[in-house]
Amino acid sequence: MLTRLILLGSALAFISGLFAQANPAPAKPAQGNAAQANAAPPGPPDWSEPFPSHRIIDNVYYVGSQGLASYLITTPAGHILINSDLKTSVPLIRESIEKLGFRLNDVKILLISHAHFDHDGGSAEVKKLTGAKYMVMDGDVGVVETGGKSDFQYGDDATLLYPAAKVDRVLHDGDEVKLGDATLTAHKTAGHTRGCTTWSLKVREAGKTYDVVIVGSPNVNPGYKLVDNARYPEIADDYARGFRVLKSLPCDVFLGAHGSYYEMEEKYAKLNAGANPYIDSEGYKNYVADREQAFFSELQKQTAGAKKQ
Ligand SMILES: [Zn+2]
Repeated sequence: MLTRLILLGSALAFISGLFAQANPAPAKPAQGNAAQANAAPPGPPDWSEPFPSHRIIDNVYYVGSQGLASYLITTPAGHILINSDLKTSVPLIRESIEKLGFRLNDVKILLISHAHFDHDGGSAEVKKLTGAKYMVMDGDVGVVETGGKSDFQYGDDATLLYPAAKVDRVLHDGDEVKLGDATLTAHKTAGHTRGCTTWSLKVREAGKTYDVVIVGSPNVNPGYKLVDNARYPEIADDYARGFRVLKSLPCDVFLGAHGSYYEMEEKYAKLNAGANPYIDSEGYKNYVADREQAFFSELQKQTAGAKKQ
């Protein structure tokens, strides 16, 4: 239920963004842009609410807010940060990293789940502060480098734009990102964005090896056109392929771009009370099946609607 409410909250934020687009304020464009540059980005309050940073398993740590997930993967050669979150989130991420005894300055590689303002809005700032190499999946590179302007759905909405950041390495499906003793694999699970990325890596705990999967986003946002989408004609095929990829990945430790995907708060509450609650391959399978079902029913609805016209 909580997951549903959080998803609804995220959906409402996107809807409010769309309304803002439909009813622009009667200001001169230049003034509007200047005001928007300083305004807090849209989104539910929990996106900016601090959450205790903590070890998930082995060298994988949670350093995000209550509603936006960021992960730190530590190695002797420096760290990998996944998701810079909102353009206003970086001080919160820094604090989370420092509370664990690590330093933001040691982040050498910056990755994202996908090119939406709630996961890559802080990337320019993280790059500036750390000099980290920014590695992004091919389909999302243009969006990242235009600060969201070339996004097929939200590119025209000034409230959802963010500082552009240069990509240092373009990733392709199946590419590996290595740092120290860590190897992450980038799986293209497009649809939600053209370069939406699900990350996988192996970790060890108590002598056993576990597969970690960080889901990029399998969700169809309100307003997404799955049929006859002139700006993203292959969107439905991409989603379908993304689900095939997600179903093929072995997963013991289920994580994602928002904690709500995997009931992060409930699991965090059970940490240090027996078995590691983040080890949840059943939860992963159920989540992917549920989201696939939601995608296909939305596709069916839109296909039927298109035929009637
Ligand atoms: Zn998104």
